[in-house]
Amino acid sequence: MPETPTREIFLHFSTAMELVFYAVAAVASVVFLYGFWLRYRKIRRGRSEHRFDDLVGRIRRAVVQIATNATVRKGDRFAGLAHALIFWGFVVLFIGTCIVAIDHDILRWFGLKMLQGTFYLWFSLTLDVFGVVFIAGLVLMIVRRWVMKPAQLDYKRADEQGGQVDRSGYATDDMIFVWLLLVIAVTGYVVEALRIAETMPAFERWSIVGWVLAGPLSGLETETLVNWHVWTWWFHGLCALAFVAYIPFSKMMHIFTDAVNLVFVDERAARRLPPLPPAPDGNGDGDGEPKKKAAPRMGYSRITDFTWKELLDLDACTKCGRCHVACPARAAGTTLSPRDLILDLRSFANEAFGTPEWLTQRFGRESKWPLRDGGTATALDTDVATDVIRPETLWSCTTCMACVAACPVGIEHLTGIVQMRRHLVDGGTLDDNLQGALMNLGDYGNSFGESPKKRGRWTKGLSFKVKNAKKEPVDTLWFVGDFASFDPRIQGLSRTVAEVFHTAGIDFGILYDGEKNAGNDVRRVGEEGLFEMLAEENIAALDAATFEQIVTTDPHTLNTLRNEYPDLGADYRVLHYTGLLAERFASGALSVSRRLGHRVTYHDPCYLARYNGEIDAPRDVMRAIGLDVVEMPRCGANTFCCGAGGGRIWMDTSNEQKRTSEQRIEEALELDGVRVFVTTCPKDYTMYTDAVKTLGCGDRIVVKDLIELVAEAIEPESVEAAASDEAGAAG
Ligand code: SF4
Ligand code: SF4
Repeated sequence: MPETPTREIFLHFSTAMELVFYAVAAVASVVFLYGFWLRYRKIRRGRSEHRFDDLVGRIRRAVVQIATNATVRKGDRFAGLAHALIFWGFVVLFIGTCIVAIDHDILRWFGLKMLQGTFYLWFSLTLDVFGVVFIAGLVLMIVRRWVMKPAQLDYKRADEQGGQVDRSGYATDDMIFVWLLLVIAVTGYVVEALRIAETMPAFERWSIVGWVLAGPLSGLETETLVNWHVWTWWFHGLCALAFVAYIPFSKMMHIFTDAVNLVFVDERAARRLPPLPPAPDGNGDGDGEPKKKAAPRMGYSRITDFTWKELLDLDACTKCGRCHVACPARAAGTTLSPRDLILDLRSFANEAFGTPEWLTQRFGRESKWPLRDGGTATALDTDVATDVIRPETLWSCTTCMACVAACPVGIEHLTGIVQMRRHLVDGGTLDDNLQGALMNLGDYGNSFGESPKKRGRWTKGLSFKVKNAKKEPVDTLWFVGDFASFDPRIQGLSRTVAEVFHTAGIDFGILYDGEKNAGNDVRRVGEEGLFEMLAEENIAALDAATFEQIVTTDPHTLNTLRNEYPDLGADYRVLHYTGLLAERFASGALSVSRRLGHRVTYHDPCYLARYNGEIDAPRDVMRAIGLDVVEMPRCGANTFCCGAGGGRIWMDTSNEQKRTSEQRIEEALELDGVRVFVTTCPKDYTMYTDAVKTLGCGDRIVVKDLIELVAEAIEPESVEAAASDEAGAAG
């Protein structure tokens, strides 16, 4: 009779050895649960935040993202492949281990057995195949980390503390992670091969890897095979148990934190900032229950101000560095790196809440936060916006959202940055230029400090009168914005937009002195009260007007009108001018008199492409007017910031070693035959024309707003007239 395919789990183990193994397993499990509980306790200390809407939908979305590795694959196919192999290998091997445990520790007491016959054969084959998948993934990860060495995996800090902070613990943790898993996987095959080599039963051919390895071993003495099997089994088993115990104290914890973090992601994070946090509850325990009638917190100053999701974000970071290399503030040489910001907050939160992290960054005395230098503040009283993260670092953020978009595990860096900025603004820790701009915005409703009456002066010199939407109904209300209204460098472009709209037969009007700065950047600077005031006044003006849709040339304005005003009761259809023109070209309402044929490159504004997904419309317009578009390496949602956002255009930016606008122009200069750099944002136009001047490359590339090229294609004469008539408008 042929032998029934199966195997003995504790082959060659005495009862005492089995008991020792179970005792060690119990200890490992207790250590795991204790570490897990410490992490859970820390996250529970965060302020409450409602993220449980559509929980089933959230879970479904996260499961799909995790199963397909979509967020890891995004922007890094090699890492995505390696991670997918490790993930699926791990999942299948884990399920296999659970089946073995259930079979041996539960079913056998009921006289049942799963691991036999055909099931056992397929079980063996599946686990052997996925073991190879797992090892292949680990090897790719090892090659990536220690041979390819991409810049994002360099843990060097963006700030000058680099020499004083020892981050070798991070590197050791990475090494333990992959090498321990590799050792577990390889010794699993060795144990299998030694077991098979004893008798070489034919059915074990299904254990394809074990069978191949067993061949050369089968010539050894049985006693040798038995001894080697027992010792290798112990080594393999103890490594696996050490892995279990190590998880909650190491990077391995991301297995759990990242999955949960992806469930609770806010898909509108950054696009729509949260209101001020509620009042403290008075007992400092951060349970989020507001004190009745108390004023709200002015942003975040304590670690207990962070919500549970924001504390979970800190634990979810895998140090992959994607945000670090995507960040324009870091590229400009400031002290900000979103990765470092998250890791510093994590180190601090772990210390404040008593959560041990074994291999982490170690601070020297000089660079520690005050409490470590014998200060009187307790960890829970330490000001995170000055003593853990430096104000200069927080002010360096352009709010470009590249970090949020790049992060594969759903970390929302920007919300915390703005919340800490709110605290800095409240305490007056901001530079004079910014202070001046905010005062102008408060006094005049615009950052230029101009009388509101002058807001519509740019329309002087147009061939027609722009309708006043406060007085007569219009189909399209053009929310012009500060730069397009007041900046002499942009006013010519505004007139060109007006001429093109007029030619396209668009029934449009503006609010003249009824319009105020929309408040997008005011909010991102952290001046929430001023944002609310501006928004309230704008909404009152919009409510009093009659129109079907809003159009704007400014992507920043578009973002707040589209994503934040609805929370304040103003829900309108908001278009960027490129979207409106694309519709007109598509419907035939607008046509070109000549196709331009220029070879150009296009810079996607962060607030248009990344924040609002408006990637196609500008390209449709460029195609319609006959431009030959050559893409820069960073394009579409992966665009690179000009450096003006988040209020940076109002700040002293002397802490930048190399402006991102200049880096971007240099990127464009690398393109073959491109002599025109196209933008669709007034701030971009300002930043890039300045950058071309600074670089002295005006003979090689010229910056144009797309509207200039559209006008050139549809009606060349009116363009020239509108754009050149700056004197009249500025006066
Ligand atoms: S929003 Fe942009 S500038 Fe700010 S931290 Fe993120 S990547 Fe850096
Ligand atoms: S915050 Fe996200 S993108 Fe940045 S290092 Fe951590 S996991 Fe990577």
